[in-house]
Amino acid sequence: MFVDSHCHLAFPELAGDIDGVLARMASAGVGTALSVCTRLDEFERVHALALRDERIFASVGVHPDSTGGEEPTVERLVELAAGPRVIAIGETGLDYYRLPEPLEWQRDRFRVHIRAAREAGRPLIIHTRSAAEDTLRIMREERAGEAGGVMHCFTESLEMALAAIELGFFISFSGIVTFKNARELQAVARALPLDRLLIETDAPYLAPVPFRGRTNEPAFVAHVAQKIAELHETSVDAVAIATGRNFNKCFMKL
Ligand SMILES: [Zn+2]
Ligand SMILES: [Zn+2]
Repeated sequence: MFVDSHCHLAFPELAGDIDGVLARMASAGVGTALSVCTRLDEFERVHALALRDERIFASVGVHPDSTGGEEPTVERLVELAAGPRVIAIGETGLDYYRLPEPLEWQRDRFRVHIRAAREAGRPLIIHTRSAAEDTLRIMREERAGEAGGVMHCFTESLEMALAAIELGFFISFSGIVTFKNARELQAVARALPLDRLLIETDAPYLAPVPFRGRTNEPAFVAHVAQKIAELHETSVDAVAIATGRNFNKCFMKL
């Protein structure tokens, strides 16, 4: 069974067809999906899905690109993270790609999430784009390693991946690793040990080959696993077992 370690089931593209999403997960051998929160006013919907079906888990957090909503505090995140089936804090992190400087507020928000994760004893889901140096610096300054977690939808350098692993984090690859033009990222995925990897869809976005351009969904995570298996010259079963075990270590502390 595969685990989709990161998707957004409360987004409108998927929320209207959760029964279909779950049925297609079952036929594709996807046993678990972690549905990730991006705004505080979305949390209730994310959480409700996790409470409704035992294959779904929830996180709580505010995405680095999210503006205009309720700003999270440590207390608020810790309180919401205490709910049943809420297994992570995020997604949080830094994204210098989409928004122009000054982004001090984004860095402050990232620090708040790391403090909450340490206090709640929950792992972090970290989004990082074009901000490698600051992401690692803040992770170190705030002792993110004490919470652990995952660098999700990883698209940065091998050097950054190794630095995050050094801090106790897992590295998660999305459908991007299946893209033809993703040779550099494929080399990163090949160079990392299987016991530090996770797989995800980041659905509804970034559908893997051969579904590019379609609405992505957790059932498609098997295609990410297939690509990782190819890169590691191993079987897709071995990737399913390793990434499932890694998910339990990362999020269930098993
Ligand atoms: Zn993200
Ligand atoms: Zn996401």
